[in-house]
Amino acid sequence: MNEFKRVVIKLSGEALAGDKGYGIDPVVVENIAKEIKKISELGLEIAIVNGGGNIWRGLSGSAKGMDRATADYMGMLATVINSLALQDALENQGVNTRVQTAIEMRQVAEPYIRRKAIRHMEKGRVVIFASGTGNPYFSTDTTAALRAAEIEADAILMGKQNVDGVYDSDPKINAAAIKFDCLQYIEVIQRGLGIMDSTAISLCMDNNIPIIVFNIDDPENIYRVAKGEKIGTIVGGK
Ligand code: UDP
Repeated sequence: MNEFKRVVIKLSGEALAGDKGYGIDPVVVENIAKEIKKISELGLEIAIVNGGGNIWRGLSGSAKGMDRATADYMGMLATVINSLALQDALENQGVNTRVQTAIEMRQVAEPYIRRKAIRHMEKGRVVIFASGTGNPYFSTDTTAALRAAEIEADAILMGKQNVDGVYDSDPKINAAAIKFDCLQYIEVIQRGLGIMDSTAISLCMDNNIPIIVFNIDDPENIYRVAKGEKIGTIVGGK
C-alpha cells in the first residue's frame, strides 16, 4: 500500500537550474522527470507546481524599481516556461501529462479547471499547474497549498536545495543547528522558519495539509519521500 494516494510536488525554479542557479538545465530536468515517472508507476496521482525563480522573481529578485504587479505577472509567465520544460521531459520518459495554467493561453496549455485536473490524475496523467495562482502578490508556495487543498492532496512534497529538512537555525551558518523530524505549522510561523511564506503555511495549517520538506539535490529523494521513507521533515499531519 502506498503512503499517499495523491500528492502535490513543489519544485522551486532553481531546482530546474542545476549548479548554474539560473535558466533550465535539461539534464537536471530529465533526472527529475525520471523520478516522477517512477512514482507515477507506483500508482500515485501526481500534480506538480513549479516556481519561476530561475528565470524571474517578482518581489525580491529581478524586479527592482518595477511595478510590483507587472513584475509578478512576469514571474507567473516564467513558471509557464518551466512547466513546458518539465512536461517535455516527462513526455520523453513516456509519462502522460497535462499543463494547466491559471492565466489562459490556449495555444500553450489547458486552462486550470479543478475537476478536469482531478480527472487527468485519475487517468494516470501528471498534471503540471502553471502560472501560479494567476494573481500577483502570491507565490508558487501558496499555489502549491491552494491546489493541494482544491484537489484534496494527501501531502505537499516540497523539494529544497542545499538542505535536507527544516532546522532550528540556518545549518550553513550555525554548525550546531538542529534538524526537526516533524513539527507543527504554528511552530513554523512562530519561529519564523523559512520553509514557505506565511500565506502558504497558513493555508496548509487551515486545511491540514502535511508538508514534507526534503532535499531535491538528489532527485531520487522524490521517489523515497513519495514511497513514505522518513527523510526530511514533516510539517503538520498526524
Ligand atoms: N507569482 C505570482 N503569483 C503566484 C505565483 C507566482 O505573482 O500565484 C510570481 C512572483 O513574482 C514570484 C514568481 O512568480 O516571485 C516566481 O514564483 P516563486 O518566486 O514562487 O518561484 P520559486 O521561488 O519557487 O522558484
